[in-house]
Parts: sequence; C-alpha cells; structure tokens
Amino acid sequence: MAGADDVHDVVIVGAGIAGSALATVLARAGLNVLLLEKSEAFSDHVRGEALLQWGVKEAQDLGLHDALIAAGAHYLGRNVGYDELQTAEMAESTPLDMARFLPGVRGILAIGHPQHCQALLGQAEAAGATVRRGVDVLTLEAGAAPNVSYEAQGARFTARARLVAGADGRASAVCEALGIPLNVGAPRTLLSGMLIAGAEGWDPDTWTLGTEEDFCFAVFPQGEGRARIYGWWPVGQRKRFAGKGGLDAFLAAFQLGCCPRSAAIAAARPAGPMITFLNNETVAESPFTEGGVLIGDAAGWTDPLSGCGLSSAYRDARIVSEILLASDDWSPAAFAPYAAERGERLRRLRFITEIEATLTCDFEERGRARRRQFFDRLPSEPALAAHLIANLAGPESQPAEVYTPAHRAYVLGEA
Ligand SMILES: Cc1cc2nc3c(=O)[nH]c(=O)nc-3n(C[C@H](O)[C@H](O)[C@H](O)COP(=O)(O)OP(=O)(O)OC[C@H]3O[C@@H](n4cnc5c(N)ncnc54)[C@H](O)[C@@H]3O)c2cc1C
Repeated sequence: MAGADDVHDVVIVGAGIAGSALATVLARAGLNVLLLEKSEAFSDHVRGEALLQWGVKEAQDLGLHDALIAAGAHYLGRNVGYDELQTAEMAESTPLDMARFLPGVRGILAIGHPQHCQALLGQAEAAGATVRRGVDVLTLEAGAAPNVSYEAQGARFTARARLVAGADGRASAVCEALGIPLNVGAPRTLLSGMLIAGAEGWDPDTWTLGTEEDFCFAVFPQGEGRARIYGWWPVGQRKRFAGKGGLDAFLAAFQLGCCPRSAAIAAARPAGPMITFLNNETVAESPFTEGGVLIGDAAGWTDPLSGCGLSSAYRDARIVSEILLASDDWSPAAFAPYAAERGERLRRLRFITEIEATLTCDFEERGRARRRQFFDRLPSEPALAAHLIANLAGPESQPAEVYTPAHRAYVLGEA
C-alpha cells in the first residue's frame, strides 16, 4: 500500500540529461516530483559530452547553463576541419568560429556525461524534487492511475502520480512497459568512443571531425589534457577494434596523416572505457500514452555523428515541461504538439545526419569524390553548409527546403 508520501504529480524514471532537466524545471515550478535513478553514482557509459549551440541555448533558457559551468564545462570556440582531402595547413588556415551560430552562445560546451548528469540531478534536488538512487524498477503502469513500484536499499516502494515520464535512455524499459513502438533503423557504421587523458598537445579550444581512408574521426577536448574521441568505420569490420589490443588499435587510428597534431591523441591514455556501438537510429513516432510520456533517448535517438542527442534531450524537457505547466490538461491530446515538434525535429536531424554521413562515412572512392567536390564548391557556395548550420544552430534555424531531396542532391553534387 502506498503511503501519502508516495503520491506525486510526476514520477520520472532516469536521472540523466532529460530526466534531471525535466525534474528541475517542474520542481522549481512547485510540482511534486519523484526522480528515480538506477545508478548509485553516474559512470562513463560513453554517451555525449559535446553540447551543441542549440542545446546550450536550451540549457540557458531552462536556467541550467550556470550549473554546467560550475561543474567544469568547457567551451570549444573553434572547429578545424582536418580531412585527408586537404593539408593540415589548409585546414588550420580556415578555422570556424563557434560563436557565430547563435547570439549569446560562445560555442560548443564540453562536459563529461557523468558530471553533466550529476550537476543536473543536484539542481533537481535543490529545487525540491525527491531523488532516489540505486533504484530497481519492478513494475510500471500508465493509464488512468499511473504507478511505479521499485526497490531501493532493500525495501520495496510504490509511487503513484498523475504522469510517469520515461527518461531512461537507450533500451528504455519504460518505453517497453508503456508499449510504445520504437522504429529501429539498420546500422550505418560501427562507432567507438572513449575518454582520454594526457593529450595536452591538442589545443583545448579546438574540436574536429573528418575522414581519413576508412575512418571518420572526431575529437572534443575537455581541458587539462582530457578529450572525448570517437571513430566511425565500416560495419563489415567488426573485429577492427575488438578484443585484446583493440583499445590500442583505436588510439593508433588517431595517428592521422592529415592531422599531425593528432599524434597527441594517439599517445594519450584511456581515462574511461572504450565502448563500440552498432550505430543505428531509432524513433518513437508517438512518444506518449495516457498517463505516460517518453523524453530523451528513451523516445528514440539520432546518429551521434550529428551530436544532437543532448540538445534534443534538453528540448524534450523544455517542451514537456511547458505542456505540464501550461494547464491541468495532461491528457494524451495535450502531448500532441510535443509529438509533432519532436517528430519533425528528428526527421530533420536524421535528414542532415544522412547527408553528413554520406559525405564523411562512405569510405569508398565515390565518397571521397563527393567530399572533394563539396570542399571545392563550399568557398563560393555557402548554401552548401546549410545542413552543418542546422546541426549547430538547431534544425529549425534552416528553411524547410534544406530538408528536401533536391537540397540533398545539390550538396552531394548529384543535382
Ligand atoms: C557514442 C555516443 C556519442 C554521443 N555523442 C554525443 C555528442 O557529442 N553530443 C550530443 O549531444 N549527444 C551525443 N550522444 C547522445 C547523448 O549521449 C544522448 O542523446 C543523451 O545522453 C540522452 O540523454 P537521456 O537523458 O535521454 O539519456 P541518458 O543520458 O543515457 O540518461 C539515462 C539515465 O537513465 C538511467 N536509467 C536507465 N534505466 C533505468 C531504469 N530502469 N531505472 C532508473 N534509471 C534508469 C541511466 O542510469 C541514466 O542515468 C552520443 C551518444 C553516444 C552513444
């Protein structure tokens, strides 16, 4: 039997980015929020550590930006486009200023995912949300009487609420419990990521993403010699960085001819696990049901090649909080605008990510040829960069024509 303390306005399952952000905003507005988190302490599962400009703006608008800075977040002010198709000197002579994309946003914000989650969870607690950690969710129901039963510290609890929010990330148990279908795409590439330390030779203000041979690489420095590194490579090469020696081979892949400075990355040491993903995309077309809503990765994710998952998680938290705070109508109909905005947002993000993947992750000669024509035309045809701007400034920053087959063909030189 649930006691009086176990009745809440909202129970949120998962205190990562989306869950803790939503809990904070709702608790600050006076709602009774219970936030349930599986882990006792956040650890590195190789999730996003680069918050793009439109996500920084969301964090600012939600009143969460300063907490990230206090937790050690580090601005990346410039991008250098190292790539096998140009010399390092050429790439370094045309750095891209990250402050030019959104007014009031200095650049990309780099912060460790565990520190990011902890900072937001601290905000939720400070705002008055009840936080339970080390939780094992046993049953979860939405409908007319939403409830969650869970175990924590050896005791069993049942919490009732007007709404259950699933913010439990990839492989969401809440998504499954609510019976919300998730469309799952085929893997486009393999993807590995790792945190490294001892990379003092890499400029702490500069991030990069480029391609050399059959490896698409990215470096997001975090200051003090630390950096998150990612690599994308063909699905057919499953054993490339697997098993004993895989980690060393992954680091060695950063010995890039097109980027002599990457020797500092290749010589760095692991500062967390290296995790490899079969890199696909998913989406829940209708991320809500009566008494339940999904936010963040639980409602589907995009390829980290575009690095928009954190920004999307903040956007979800903002839109869902606006709906919940606007009126007492928390019926499924009230969430229709969320589903519509999210559906179009993810469609746009998937669209621009596919363009970028076709440029950077088609490792055949035809991919190189596409990228070469793109680089050759870019200085005189700035419209070619629309998908990149959409990525940094937000999918709504670009007109609808950008998300059409005609624009894709134009960018890829197939028009
Ligand atoms: C390799 C990789 C690289 C990425 N790079 C970027 C990037 O550079 N930029 C970017 O913006 N995005 C990136 N992303 C995406 C980004 O990490 C996610 O989109 C983002 O973390 C989603 O936030 P979330 O709150 O939905 O989920 P998460 O951040 O994963 O949080 C989910 C939380 O739920 C908890 N949980 C899980 N199950 C339960 C349960 N049953 N009960 C209670 N709690 C539970 C987990 O412990 C966790 O704390 C990347 C993703 C990957 C995989």
